[in-house]
Amino acid sequence: MNENVSQIPLPRLPVARVAAAGKSHGKIQALDNIDLELYPREVMALLGPNGAGKTTLVNLLLGLASPDSGEVAVFGRDPREIAVRSRVGAMLQVSGVPPTLKVREHLELGSAYYPRPFPLPELLRLAGLEALAERQYGQLSGGQKQRVLFALAVCGRPSLLFLDEPTVGLDVESRRALWAAIEQLVDGGATILLTTHYLEEAERLAHRVAVLDRGRIVALGSPAEIKGKVAGRKILCRTRLSLAEIAALPGAGAAVQVAGRVEIAGVDTENLLRALLARDPDLAELEVRPLGLEEALQSLTASRLGKAA
Ligand code: ATP
Repeated sequence: MNENVSQIPLPRLPVARVAAAGKSHGKIQALDNIDLELYPREVMALLGPNGAGKTTLVNLLLGLASPDSGEVAVFGRDPREIAVRSRVGAMLQVSGVPPTLKVREHLELGSAYYPRPFPLPELLRLAGLEALAERQYGQLSGGQKQRVLFALAVCGRPSLLFLDEPTVGLDVESRRALWAAIEQLVDGGATILLTTHYLEEAERLAHRVAVLDRGRIVALGSPAEIKGKVAGRKILCRTRLSLAEIAALPGAGAAVQVAGRVEIAGVDTENLLRALLARDPDLAELEVRPLGLEEALQSLTASRLGKAA
């Protein structure tokens, strides 16, 4: 009997939950009826064009802003509670860090707020800061400062970590080192919400991707599922049709000029091919290729813009 009970899978409770949440800044509806759940040891990438509402959503989860409607819970509680905040870490784009303190002093101060922080040597190693511990923050390069901000975000060994474009300005080696650190934190039990414009980063790190556009979630799933959502192909060809004419064709996603040809993300590739050939009998240099995450994303957000117009 006990054996049977132990085999019943336990329900996976979300670490963080946003339900039917809306948020406006004056007349701008930054978030519109958002539902999103983050599960233990999950890396969720939040993707979307500038102004999509990503920062607003993160601010709700951090308790820095309240929703106008709907609910936000972290560990089942109000995100503003001290007990919740002590288990949350955040690396945000805006951050005022005093320039004259040394890296080590910053990390010691930051760690003092948390009940069970990483020991300093472990934190320095995790963020690749061993050689910089005695340097003043203000004298570091942009990429080195990013690594300090990352260390400050993770110093308290957070169960839930928000990373807002953490690898902006990092060189290739530092970016890979930070990805490895993120993977190490997830192995240790952390859940991460990652905002990024680097799709390679989302594909490499994220179990799931949420695509936000104009305050709404337009796609949610694994990177492979997101790519699959847009019929998975792009069409390249030389044509006399204008970009506006192409955009109006059935099945067309975003279209751009590339080296004398047009490149069209196909939402419905077969119908789009038929329409292209029917309207331009001289169409040449035709090629159909699979879509990457970047093109899938462009297509998802562009097709919604098209519908709204
Ligand atoms: P980015 O990729 O550029 O960082 P984002 O997806 O994080 O963008 P948000 O910063 O959440 O987008 O902004 C969503 C919308 O709300 C935008 O139209 C923005 O101009 C608006 N907005 C955000 N903060 C405020 C504010 N404090 N006052 C007025 N409007 C705001």
